[in-house]
Amino acid sequence: MDLTIHQNCPSCGATIELNEADRLIRCPYCEVKNFMVTRGPLRFVLPDKAPSHIERQDLFYAPYLRFKGNIYYCKGNYLKYKVVDTTRQGMNISALPPSLGLRPQAMVISLVTDELKGCFLHQTIKARTLLEQAAQLTVLDSGDIKADFYHRAFIGETLSCVYLPLYIDKEVLHDAVTNKPLARAVAEKMRIMGSTYRESWTPHFLATLCPRCGDSLVGEHDSLILSCYNCHSSWEEKQGGFQMIRWSSVVSRHKDIYSLPFWKIHAYTKGVEMKSFGDFLRFTNQPVVVQKKHKEMELVFWIPAFKVRPSTFLRLGKNMTLTQSKIPAGEELMTKGMHPVTLERTEAIQALKSVMAGAALNKKKLLPMLPDIRFRPLDTELVYLPFFDKGHDYVQEQTALSLAKSVLHFGRKL
Ligand SMILES: [Zn+2]
Ligand SMILES: [Zn+2]
Repeated sequence: MDLTIHQNCPSCGATIELNEADRLIRCPYCEVKNFMVTRGPLRFVLPDKAPSHIERQDLFYAPYLRFKGNIYYCKGNYLKYKVVDTTRQGMNISALPPSLGLRPQAMVISLVTDELKGCFLHQTIKARTLLEQAAQLTVLDSGDIKADFYHRAFIGETLSCVYLPLYIDKEVLHDAVTNKPLARAVAEKMRIMGSTYRESWTPHFLATLCPRCGDSLVGEHDSLILSCYNCHSSWEEKQGGFQMIRWSSVVSRHKDIYSLPFWKIHAYTKGVEMKSFGDFLRFTNQPVVVQKKHKEMELVFWIPAFKVRPSTFLRLGKNMTLTQSKIPAGEELMTKGMHPVTLERTEAIQALKSVMAGAALNKKKLLPMLPDIRFRPLDTELVYLPFFDKGHDYVQEQTALSLAKSVLHFGRKL
């Protein structure tokens, strides 16, 4: 479930409402668009109702780590996945609730800013540890505990930090959201466990102008890649600036098409002999005769560049990879109706093993080999593929792959 966030417009200062995944922020008041860039996780705070005799600078903020995403794993003869949405204490204080439960979703939260003068308790549990715990629980959950475990990947995850405000009144620690007492505490001892707001937490904002031609860059609120319709270029944020990426769009003979983005990843494989597309067909035991033309094709994966539920993600990745020879070369030409890129290239690269495992018809033989396999991406390109609108579904023009519109819509909320 998405979080609703209050954030000030970097141009005019008005308060605007955002979703957790939003990056391109269009202010409804001054109409300026800014692209948000963060170093590390976004930091939010729950709204407090501390009594008026508590000074604002005497508030404490306890960190909770929020992980939302998909865990894919291979165990026994199966590839499985689970959607995880969890918020866990980022430090070890037994008086505090271990999780925030549904509280962050139930209220409007704010981005942490330097206006918060209280004490931010240090996060002592690493995000990685929390992910490991979530993964272990997932694997335990799945039954069949004794089966061998071969692979695990977190894909499309967001990690953020949500602070629970606290205060001490008459040496009793209180939850400042509910005003419930938690435990006895001494302010001086608590202060040692934290520090004030850090400047590096402040997100910064990029003006959405094309670095090549100066025209306005276009995207939707959750777009990770912005497009210039004037010089037909695509841009991703990298190290605080926009960098041009390699991209193309497969031109359709039809009007009224909808284009969905895929990361086309040319990969080098270590650990097993798998150099060509023909090798991939053989390795995953596809029911086709591997021909000379297959052996001459490079090993290229086609991974959806948008968030969508795991079963659909694996199906699209597998089928586009297997039917890629039907896709003609594209052009650098922006079209109407392009679905936003909501899954980063690095996330797509992490999905390669899972997509291969999903494609394998010989899972019993292939899955135990996964720990020894390494993919090294050689180059990547963003490719938009044309889909027909068929009522409830979108159908890919060249491969006839279909995708329910509702699934695509729901994916924007993942
Ligand atoms: Zn504004
Ligand atoms: Zn341009």
